[in-house]
Amino acid sequence: MLPPAPISCRDNPLGHLPSVLAIRDLRRRLGHALHGRDVRQEEVVRILQLDPLAVVRGLRAAAAPAFGPPPPAWSVRRLAERLGPAPTRRLLQAQPAATTGTLALRRLWLHAIATAFAAQDLAAQTGILDPEEAYLLGLLHDLPLWLELVDTSAGTASPPVPAAAWIDHWQLPPQLTALFATRSAPAGHPLVERPTDATALVFAAELLADLADFGHPGEDDKLELTSAVLAAADKKDLVAAQRLRRQVEGALRAFGLDPTQPEPDRDQEHPLLPDPGGRRGDLHDVVLRILGCARSESYRGILTALTAAGLRYGDYDRALYVRWDHSTQRIFVRCKADSSPRRLAMTTLLPTASEMGALREALQGERPVLIGAELGQRRGVLAALACDELLAVPLNRAFATPAFLLLDRSLSQEPILRDRDTAMATTLGMTGSLLIENLLLRRRRQRAQKFALTDSLTRLFNRRMGLTSLDQEVARAARSRRPLTVLMCDLDHFKQLNDTHGHLQGDLALRATAEVLRQTLRRSDTICRYGGEEFLVVLPDTSPDEATVLATRLFTAVQSRGLELGLPVTISIGLTDHRPGDTVESMLQRADHALYASKDYGRNRFSVDIDGVDEAPVASR
Ligand code: GH3
Ligand code: MG
Ligand code: MG
Repeated sequence: MLPPAPISCRDNPLGHLPSVLAIRDLRRRLGHALHGRDVRQEEVVRILQLDPLAVVRGLRAAAAPAFGPPPPAWSVRRLAERLGPAPTRRLLQAQPAATTGTLALRRLWLHAIATAFAAQDLAAQTGILDPEEAYLLGLLHDLPLWLELVDTSAGTASPPVPAAAWIDHWQLPPQLTALFATRSAPAGHPLVERPTDATALVFAAELLADLADFGHPGEDDKLELTSAVLAAADKKDLVAAQRLRRQVEGALRAFGLDPTQPEPDRDQEHPLLPDPGGRRGDLHDVVLRILGCARSESYRGILTALTAAGLRYGDYDRALYVRWDHSTQRIFVRCKADSSPRRLAMTTLLPTASEMGALREALQGERPVLIGAELGQRRGVLAALACDELLAVPLNRAFATPAFLLLDRSLSQEPILRDRDTAMATTLGMTGSLLIENLLLRRRRQRAQKFALTDSLTRLFNRRMGLTSLDQEVARAARSRRPLTVLMCDLDHFKQLNDTHGHLQGDLALRATAEVLRQTLRRSDTICRYGGEEFLVVLPDTSPDEATVLATRLFTAVQSRGLELGLPVTISIGLTDHRPGDTVESMLQRADHALYASKDYGRNRFSVDIDGVDEAPVASR
């Protein structure tokens, strides 16, 4: 048997039934009603409530397993909250696709809205269901019927897939699928004998909608049906039906839609909501936009720019930056952009075998690959993200864990086109790869530079860096006449320590001394390992008096650290200050001279060699 063929948005009826509001001129009128105004989320929710098909697409996307557990009961409002303002608008903005039977669609649409309002009222009266959830169930109760009206055969050779298979594939909320199951159950089935509360409620709401003259299409004998229903209905129902009719008409009129007005013949496309601007840029825009963050020092900054560019210029609904770990086969989501406030609850996704094959193909070919889902697929990346197709763009093939940009249009249900979309995605991928590579190279260079200037044992600056710093400070002190002092420090009897305790203990003593120097001195001071067991400290803006305090603190702290370690670690220090006409060499010479004075006087002390003073060395207690 052949493996199931991947499906695409082309086959998916969700792509063929965009907004019902796209039918004929409804979209145009709504566009006018909202044009030029700042549309609030509240208003968008109210439009969404009139558009069952957008709601279905939104539900599928919002219920994606990757976004965490669904709320206990869905409603249009909860759906919009979960998606966030931008994706909710996007749902309504999807371009209308060619559909057949638009008149039937229009009747079904009015029937759905009327049933939704009636179900909401009935739920509020009886208390058997959350009214908002009842609205949603009423709005979508005929989804299987909608699907029968869609012609997906255009342009595809594959045999049509039954509506039930699609509904199963979309993994809609269980309340909804239970409703469909009960309604489609054959006579005599236990579900029909004992319908659930929700089914009974929606059925009663439908009757009320019929009574309000919002019946199903195809029920041509409307008059006869109406009179039959009229005969059965009592006066209370008729009053309720009348109220329902006014309610539905009012909701539609609020957006400039008049259900009684006949539709004009011509099909006219009109953006439903003003475009947020700047979508579908050319490749040039994309590159510039991403390169705009070329100076970005952060990896995350580049990823954000990359995913945002995919969203904005590639017109995708979602862009994820992921890493693919070969050892676990898992995909780690590092960054996402879908203009929603949602977080990805699941940060690792496990691809199916065929998804892995496609990812491998993308890596090897260094080009974007379109991955299609299989009908009814329950596992893998596409199922977790609730999408039918996804463009995987390889980035930085050289990474130990290869990276990809995953792009999809599951909200708008617009197909990904090989020519146009691949070119854009390739540009996106290449620009992103270059930026990341550039950042890594820069970081490597910085590390190498740092390495060249530091001493690996003590992590202090090395002699070269110490001398460079002293050179700069001498020049600065000469210019600014600010004080400058230097300390030359040398471990006492270090050869003996090595001989007695071994070189490893010697190294430990060096590191401990370096640590004491670091902790005692300021960030602006330069500390370097000048030689084997010699340290040079440059103290800018420090007077000899201040330096004396520091030197005392230093040699006593080193001694106590040595006691802690059980090692005889002490240092001797020579101190000098900057004088007019001083050079690096003259300062170092005097510091050395003072250091030797300390050694001569018995070590573990400091001596000063400053202008006009020839102080006696100061010993430790
Ligand atoms: P003084 O008190 O006069 O300074 O005596 P000293 O033994 O410290 O002086 P000397 O210059 O004779 O010996 C320095 C020793 O430092 C010799 C060398 O083996 C040791 N040394 C230099 N660098 C390192 C190092 O990186 N690790 C270890 N363990 N020892 C080192
Ligand atoms: Mg020494
Ligand atoms: Mg020495």
